[in-house]
Amino acid sequence: MSLATVVSRALNGLAADLVTVEVHLAPGLPAINIVGLPEAAVREAKDRVKAALQTCGYPFPNRRITCNLAPADLPKEGGRFDLAIALGILAASGQIPETALDGIEVLGELSLSGEIRPVRGALPAALKAAQAQRGLLVPMENAAEAGLATRARVFAAAHLATLCAALHAGPLQAIERSAPDVAPASQPDLAEVRGQHLAKRALEIAAAGGHSMLMIGPPGSGKSMLAARLPGLLPPLTEEEAIEVAAIASVSQGGFDANLWGRRPYRTPHHTASAVALVGGGSIPRPGEITLAHRGILFLDELPEFDRGVLEVLREPLESGQITISRAARQSDFPARFQLVAAMNPCPCGYLGDVSGKCRCTPDQVGRYRGKISGPLLDRIDLQLFVPRVEREALTAASDPGAESSERVRSRVVAASRRQTERAGKPNAQMTPREIERDCPVDAQTRVLLEAAMTRMGLSARAYHRVLKVARTIADLAGVEALAAGHVAEALRLRELDRGQP
Ligand SMILES: [Zn+2]
Repeated sequence: MSLATVVSRALNGLAADLVTVEVHLAPGLPAINIVGLPEAAVREAKDRVKAALQTCGYPFPNRRITCNLAPADLPKEGGRFDLAIALGILAASGQIPETALDGIEVLGELSLSGEIRPVRGALPAALKAAQAQRGLLVPMENAAEAGLATRARVFAAAHLATLCAALHAGPLQAIERSAPDVAPASQPDLAEVRGQHLAKRALEIAAAGGHSMLMIGPPGSGKSMLAARLPGLLPPLTEEEAIEVAAIASVSQGGFDANLWGRRPYRTPHHTASAVALVGGGSIPRPGEITLAHRGILFLDELPEFDRGVLEVLREPLESGQITISRAARQSDFPARFQLVAAMNPCPCGYLGDVSGKCRCTPDQVGRYRGKISGPLLDRIDLQLFVPRVEREALTAASDPGAESSERVRSRVVAASRRQTERAGKPNAQMTPREIERDCPVDAQTRVLLEAAMTRMGLSARAYHRVLKVARTIADLAGVEALAAGHVAEALRLRELDRGQP
């Protein structure tokens, strides 16, 4: 045979698009041409493949070799196709069995000595290969990661020479699939936070219904400390969700880390972060912070310090749970179902409403400062609360009699979350207006209370729905189906910015 085709996968977000590598040998002056890769990548791939084949004792065919990578317009990071190209040359020149790679896709970079080096995005590639009912051959270092794909047949190799020997010996043996051990995540505990009963209650509600949250308070009130305790209150990830989270890490700059398997992400980008860093981008689109926070928490401290344009791009993913990144002719979709937790000072100096009485900010200055966050973004935040500094006595008390452990709070959260899954198949925060009508009916008395509050606080229709969603979660935490006035009243109290406090 003088023609061979090997199938591989591009690094294109979670899409892992199919790439076919065709290798054709023709009579003529010995040369190798690679079509479909950027020029610099072609030169490097040629050198690596040639050297790897020679060091492994395979004579480089003395023919005119043409490798065509198709389709031509996919992002093709050079190295990941080395192994596919090398195996294509070996198959086309009859040096490995013609049928050795039937039904198997190939990923891997080669070193000059024939070692097979890891690549990014092995898990999304394995998921796609499984969908296409093909196996996937990956570098040994990517084996555990690719093996997370539940239905995938994964093959792994560490060196070109041993791989070729195995291909000669018969069909490759798939690796045994095993999910990494989940070490019990040691997370900061809620019991360590003294006082702050309102904030702790808000965290519990946020965790139970997947609600976004804004904490407003002076420096030193413990806003970051509280936010960092939210992941520990959330229900555990399902296996499918854990795979999604791992697949995102797999295509990201940092790569997949088995130690983080099964954990909900907690991302804390700095307020100097660019829009691209936050939402993703690049010529080969990379996930941004909102995607890295998928199924977890995105914590934005000092919210008014973020560039307004950067904050505005959060609006759409907050609603849809995904982001589309367009670059020239290409589009990549990334999931971005994150829970937003934000924190800010009440005024430019930070001490408005504080017992110290230090604040000298004028109402104008306070208005301008808060105005940095647009109404539409604020409208999409379910819970807003003031977090005062804790009185010194509470801070120095040896123990806080009211302090509950994260574990206890989490058990209530899990029960409330189960009610929501059974009722609507999703957290309350994600209910559509129609689902709110259906699942949050209120009696006449509650409606009067709600409407009076809406008028007094000047809330939008969107905010009205948010209050009902939060009230639904409060009732779910209480284990009751019917919404009562008390649930709605508590939800209204948790819109403190709208109520104009302090
Ligand atoms: Zn001030």
